[in-house]
Amino acid sequence: MSFPKKTLLIICDGLGDRPCKELNFKTPLEAAKKPNLNALAKKGACGLMYTLGPGIKAGSDTAHLSIFGYNIKKYYLGRGPLEALGLKMQLKQGDVAFRANVATVNKKGIIVDRRAGRIKDSSELANALDGIEIKGVQFIVKAGTAHRLALVMRGKGLSANISDSDPHKEGVEPLTVKPRDDSKEAKFTASVLNEFLKKAHNILEKHPLNKERKKRGLPVANIVLVRGAGMFKRIPSFEERYNMKACCIAGAGLYKGVARFVGMDVLDVEGATGRADTNVKAKIKEAIEALSAYDFVFVHIKACDVFGHDGDAKGKKSFIEKIDSALKPLLKLKDTLIVITADHSTPCCMKDHSGDAVPVLIAGTSVRSDCIAKFEERECAKGYYRFNSGTELMSEILNLTAKAKMVGS
Ligand code: ZN
Ligand code: ZN
Repeated sequence: MSFPKKTLLIICDGLGDRPCKELNFKTPLEAAKKPNLNALAKKGACGLMYTLGPGIKAGSDTAHLSIFGYNIKKYYLGRGPLEALGLKMQLKQGDVAFRANVATVNKKGIIVDRRAGRIKDSSELANALDGIEIKGVQFIVKAGTAHRLALVMRGKGLSANISDSDPHKEGVEPLTVKPRDDSKEAKFTASVLNEFLKKAHNILEKHPLNKERKKRGLPVANIVLVRGAGMFKRIPSFEERYNMKACCIAGAGLYKGVARFVGMDVLDVEGATGRADTNVKAKIKEAIEALSAYDFVFVHIKACDVFGHDGDAKGKKSFIEKIDSALKPLLKLKDTLIVITADHSTPCCMKDHSGDAVPVLIAGTSVRSDCIAKFEERECAKGYYRFNSGTELMSEILNLTAKAKMVGS
């Protein structure tokens, strides 16, 4: 019996859905024309997966960690470190990292625009704040896309058990960061961070870029809002745990961050944007090429989730068709276990993630094929697989590629 030596894992973010009125009560995946996905389903076996457990509404970060086989109770450190890693920041043990963005406050200190008019590039502003030191704590700031930043605090005696300064809404003042426990580390971290945020506000107010924005009548980016504190620590890498050299092909920063966190190489593909205009064909082409150098190739495709959040069922259906047409080369792929799934469902009728199971498809020579010939939610429910956590999918991947370790003897 032959078995595939390599694995190609494709995660379509937020792919799962519920019946949509606009699609005649089909899900976007059911309504989509998807000859290639169906051909792969026919060749392999299908099923359903709850990435974090039945009915649990998963975030993208935790769901991906779980699918990579990392129990989130042990390994999830918060969103901040993953965002920072996504921006290629080098983190050290004990750093506290945040997701941040520049925003606009008026003269009374009220937030009037959480995204500072979706400022195109905030790197000049990030540079003006980068390297500030307060009470022995260094602040490292790096710009992401548009209004997004990552912030890292580096120094002794820090804690990530502190609250956000971002109130997650407009029309109110930014929040004072508070310690979430009585430790001196949490109190110290909160107080130093508050001092930094105040200083940042003063620097940004006077920044030439903002003076220019004011002249042009644009919202000034005069405040930094932080959220999602997490303390970085090194964890056992994917290669250490599974003896597989792994890489990631993704457009959006968070997924590159999760991949770097588990020690995957991140390959840059031109045209991979993390949006609906992304070049799925280029990503799949690169993934197939990468299979010669890597044992495990992870491809992330974002836009289904975005259409779900927008409640755009027809857009989601069309994007699934775009994915499907890019998957044609997979039908001829040899010696590879193909796994196609999602990190969570993002039903258009909810405009949010849900705890509904996601469809899973596994094809390869070692797979016991079932009778499912359509890769869609309600067909998958009749298939061979049922994973009650993402980590179970990883166990099955190890099993099907003959890498599983025996339990007992
Ligand atoms: Zn997601
Ligand atoms: Zn989402």
